[in-house]
Amino acid sequence: MLSTTEAREAVLSSMPEFPAEVTPVGSANGCVLRQIVRAERDQPPFDRVMMDGVALRFADVEKGAREFPVQATQAAGDPVLALQPGSCIEIMTGASLPGNADCIIPVERISLRNGVAVIDDDYEAKIGQFIHRRASDHSAGAHLLAPGKRISPMDVAIIASCGLTEIEVSRRPIVRVISTGNELVAPGAPIKPQQIRLSNGPAIQAMLMERGYAQCVHDHLLDDLDELRERIAVHLAEADVLILSGGVSMGKADFVPGVMAELGVNVVFHKVSQRPGKPMWFGIGPKKKAVFALPGNPVSALVCCRQYVIPALAAASAAAPQPPEFAVLASDITFEPDLTCFQPVRLVSSAGGQVLAVPVKTNTSGDFTALSATDGYVELAREQDHFPAGTAVFLHRWRAC
Ligand code: AMP
Ligand code: MG
Repeated sequence: MLSTTEAREAVLSSMPEFPAEVTPVGSANGCVLRQIVRAERDQPPFDRVMMDGVALRFADVEKGAREFPVQATQAAGDPVLALQPGSCIEIMTGASLPGNADCIIPVERISLRNGVAVIDDDYEAKIGQFIHRRASDHSAGAHLLAPGKRISPMDVAIIASCGLTEIEVSRRPIVRVISTGNELVAPGAPIKPQQIRLSNGPAIQAMLMERGYAQCVHDHLLDDLDELRERIAVHLAEADVLILSGGVSMGKADFVPGVMAELGVNVVFHKVSQRPGKPMWFGIGPKKKAVFALPGNPVSALVCCRQYVIPALAAASAAAPQPPEFAVLASDITFEPDLTCFQPVRLVSSAGGQVLAVPVKTNTSGDFTALSATDGYVELAREQDHFPAGTAVFLHRWRAC
């Protein structure tokens, strides 16, 4: 049986690379950038006034002048005026510094009397104050964003500031989420006492959509060989990635691995030395289409989705690898050896600024209600069976951050 590290490496090395495509900047948030973004202009593009007030020459203030006739008014976006010695120009935040001016006095520190700005007696001005100098952030042509960056709202600001309306990103994969099980009944449909509400599919879709994989459609299939064969063949033909839940254990109705073999999906691994999620199956189909078959138990399905599917989609989207995250155990944990344990945790900050992981017990791997109070899970390596409080361990958060 593969270790969790081997399974993760096997998944990452099997994934294809999704092609690049051009997308409008308005829908680029969350996509992975596939081009360099260079500055269109200096930033700021001119000496930018940072305060509403008056622009003047510091040399005049230095000589003792406190009263300055207002020569004109210049707002943001107005053509740049040239200041006459001894005068001031009424100026607004965002305006380009008038010629000859080198000092801004904020409006709060002047009084305007009959077209003359009088500086408060107790106010001490400095040369160059409240001027954001041209190119002090970066120069035209500077590399601002590199391929592999997951585009954030801050990056959208940068891209827009470069004057771009479109940007090259990784194409978002077409994903099919398939819940298998005769006992499953979708929300909204009548249910019998022996049946189970279908919850994995919507949860997996939510986890993917939160990370920007919006082309994600769900299907429910019965534990029926013909139906599985027929519908999975269609999904394989239409989608880039399949994520199944259920049907991969040792039960008589666990048909998924057999059906995959019939459809030409080559198994990369079946079973990982982990709890929860031991029965997980992963394979690669025709045209390098990835098929993740997660165990049906809800905690297992969510942990395996976060642990394997999310990093795989990021890698195939050519996202730059993220550094691992750590948390410090808030209490001792002891568990059965030989299987890596993914322990759900709630995070709290210690007074010393550490991220503390408080273990949250789940009542078997079917108890998904307990997960609502958790922020993620920690990975406790199978080589050890006792982890004292204070141990630093790998943390995997549920939410994209
Ligand atoms: P399986 O892996 O198919 O043997 O399913 C294991 C357990 O998970 C069973 O108790 C199933 O009823 C439950 N289960 C499977 N799929 C889902 C699902 N989509 N939503 C909720 N529970 C599920
Ligand atoms: Mg089942």
